[in-house]
Amino acid sequence: MILPRANRLTPEQIQEITGMVESFGCHIQPIVGAVRTIYAILGDERDELMFSRLEGLPYVERIDRIQSPFKLMDVRSDLSTHQIAIGGVTLGRAPLFIAGQCTIDPKNPDYFYETAQAVKEAGAQVLRGGVWKPRTNPYAFQGDDKSLDVLMEASRRTGLPVDTEVMDENQLKLALDAGVPMLQVGARNALNYSLLRHIGAAVAGRKTIVLLKRSLHMGTLNEFISAAEYIANFGNPNIILCPRGTAPALDGYRNHPDESIVPLLKERTWAPVVVDPSHSVGKASYVPACALAALAYGADGLCIEAHVQPGKGIGDDPKQAVTPDVLAETIRLAREVWALRHPSGR
Ligand code: PEP
Ligand code: MN
Repeated sequence: MILPRANRLTPEQIQEITGMVESFGCHIQPIVGAVRTIYAILGDERDELMFSRLEGLPYVERIDRIQSPFKLMDVRSDLSTHQIAIGGVTLGRAPLFIAGQCTIDPKNPDYFYETAQAVKEAGAQVLRGGVWKPRTNPYAFQGDDKSLDVLMEASRRTGLPVDTEVMDENQLKLALDAGVPMLQVGARNALNYSLLRHIGAAVAGRKTIVLLKRSLHMGTLNEFISAAEYIANFGNPNIILCPRGTAPALDGYRNHPDESIVPLLKERTWAPVVVDPSHSVGKASYVPACALAALAYGADGLCIEAHVQPGKGIGDDPKQAVTPDVLAETIRLAREVWALRHPSGR
């Protein structure tokens, strides 16, 4: 919809705009009001270049988009009935709980094996464990290829499917070759379109699921959904959106908690939403409340950092990992919140 600066366009302006939109296969339909006339764009109006050209015209005040910019991730797309399942859970039918250590310590793998068993007993259906870590400090532990073996061994021992973050093409290949069923795109890479494209191409034709974190610096929700569209565009729509807090941090929390965006995402996209309260609030004692709030807002699940002995962990674990008993209680309460929101059992 084109809103002109003046009350209506002149015949010359209409001619210019008509020529412009026709070259993109669209037409213009004036909608004449008592004072003001606006102009509907008829046809597939999603071409970004058409929008930029129209927005660049000095006599155009604003363009309002009626159609969604997402062909695949839109809540009204043909994929809206697409279902994603892992760990015996079909997203949307029952809550999904992903839990485990922030970081696997390759020198002390037993902690991870114990954590894996403990999160399973607490009710998690997917085990998380960071093999390669995006660290702000270049001198901090960056992860280790050896941890991939620990992750897969823990998966074998517990029978839980696993989730780990990949940050480049080499890690992507190693993880897929090892059989990792859920790949995490971290907050720092959610705006790395080149990586998103590589992941999309690599998972096309596979059952792999991508857990796409929300970037610390994503302004609009459409930016978040567009990142998912980048991956889905290659053919595998198994994508879960994961709000995890944004910058700037709310004084006292690690980030600005954003579980409240769940209903807004669900108005625009069919993609399941699994909230990460751990990175959002950044301190173990705040995690359970944030987790329950996420379920209350309609999240399809949670991704929680947990460790058998947080104080012995590396990465984020000493600060923000919950212990298995807290995880078990959080999952129990989260199931109750889920049941309140899904009275018919769905
Ligand atoms: C993590 O999951 O440990 C992690 C680094 O997450 P994020 O990308 O959300 O910071
Ligand atoms: Mn972490």
